[in-house]
Amino acid sequence: MKSAIPSLNLPAAPEAGGISEVTPAEGLRAVLDNLDALVYVSDLETHDLLYMNAYGRKIWGSIDGRKCWEVLQDSASPCDFCTNHLLIDAEGTPSPPHIWEFQNRLDQRWYQCRDQAIPWIDGRLVRLEIATDITERKEMELALKEAHEKARAAALEDDLTGLRNRRAFFELGNQLLKQSRRSGSPLAIIMFDLDYFKKINDNHGHEAGDEVLRHIGQLLESNVREADIAARIGGEEFAILLADAHAVQASELAERLLELMQKTPVRYRDVRIRPTASFGISALHPEEPDLKNLLARADNAMYQSKALGRGRVRIKP
Ligand code: GH3
Ligand code: MG
Ligand code: MG
Repeated sequence: MKSAIPSLNLPAAPEAGGISEVTPAEGLRAVLDNLDALVYVSDLETHDLLYMNAYGRKIWGSIDGRKCWEVLQDSASPCDFCTNHLLIDAEGTPSPPHIWEFQNRLDQRWYQCRDQAIPWIDGRLVRLEIATDITERKEMELALKEAHEKARAAALEDDLTGLRNRRAFFELGNQLLKQSRRSGSPLAIIMFDLDYFKKINDNHGHEAGDEVLRHIGQLLESNVREADIAARIGGEEFAILLADAHAVQASELAERLLELMQKTPVRYRDVRIRPTASFGISALHPEEPDLKNLLARADNAMYQSKALGRGRVRIKP
């Protein structure tokens, strides 16, 4: 609601014992002109504006000989969101009021509109709209929604690398898995753990280790498709779920990532660090209900890579 309520502008009260100089129509008009809401009436077919109260005239101007869409929306034709067709049923009887929210094009404010077909003075059914300014409420709602979305995004993101975190990996991963099962498309997973990462921290400091992790994050961001889910699921452990991919494609991507790790060293102060990682690949089995077994097979393959000397890719179908 707007806080400024227009000052009352009622016609003069009748003198005691005297005859009122105000007709009922004038009295009603005064009431309508002092409402803190837009009230207008228009023809359901021609859209001609038949009445608009002072609140509306002050914002949208004179109605003389003009259509509702000209005055209220500055349109060249009836609005595509016109609600007139909702106001009368198939038998031509007025429907219950239609209540909706809308941002006006001209003043950019939000209104709650209450539209209804009512009989006009000449007997025809016309459109009555009563629109209340709800901009402050709407802005608060939108700000709250944005804050919720931001908080949710922050809760799903890994601070250091900007990748998805472990929680997001399972949340989104299980959604992707269900989608794959529904459509019958394949799904593959890559897991990898950086090799001898503790040594990087020990030799160059924890900050250098962090820089390596950020670098891996960027590497994944630029080599993983939009539909895939790349996440940091542990300290120096990462996972990628590949939509619509078989183990072979996952293995090719893993080999490429390993090669890139070695080709593009991480610069930290005056040192260049070339991390390697041990990769494990697996693919979804039909009927597998969640990520648990898929992840366990990839983890198993990853440990085979470690055991075989690190810096390599192993598949466990
Ligand atoms: P392996 O090849 O067997 O995987 O050896 P590793 O040294 O990588 O494995 P280990 O599990 O012994 O050590 C992992 C190290 O990763 C220990 C931990 O301090 C470090 N680490 C975990 N999270 C972070 C982080 O956010 N930043 C930094 N800099 N280091 C981290
Ligand atoms: Mg490690
Ligand atoms: Mg580890």
